[in-house]
Formats: sequence, C-alpha cells, structure tokens
Amino acid sequence: MRKLKCPQCEVHRFFVKNESGDNRLVTVNENYEVVAVHSIDSLVGFDLNMLYCLGCSWKGSPQSLRSEKIKEKRY
Ligand SMILES: [Zn+2]
Repeated sequence: MRKLKCPQCEVHRFFVKNESGDNRLVTVNENYEVVAVHSIDSLVGFDLNMLYCLGCSWKGSPQSLRSEKIKEKRY
C-alpha cells in the first residue's frame, strides 16, 4: 500500500487533532484514507480533513496530498 507524502518535505507521517487538542499519528494511503499509525488508536472525534505534517509546517486536507513525482509548490 502506497502512502501519500507531504507535498513540501515528502514525509509520509502526519498528525490529526481533536477538539481537546489531542494528537494522533497517522498516514494516508493511496485512497486518501487516513490510517492511525498505531492500530490501537481510535480516530473517532478527530478531524481527518486537516493533516499536520511531522516534518514541516505544511497542513491541509488528505486530498491535497500527492503521490510521488508530481510536486506542487505552495507559497
Ligand atoms: Zn512536510
């Protein structure tokens, strides 16, 4: 299963947040599904439409990630 990468730094790990400010470490598969890195973690109540990159300051929706090779510069 291919994992989608950050369009800026190509890290493929992100975290999501809930209203309480908790974080969950996640990856995004090629179907744009957000998957918890630790399978015991529940993503219920977390905002899966806003990802925060672990490697840089990028944040955005799963749909805005790109498979490798196609790079989009965001300023
Ligand atoms: Zn990044």
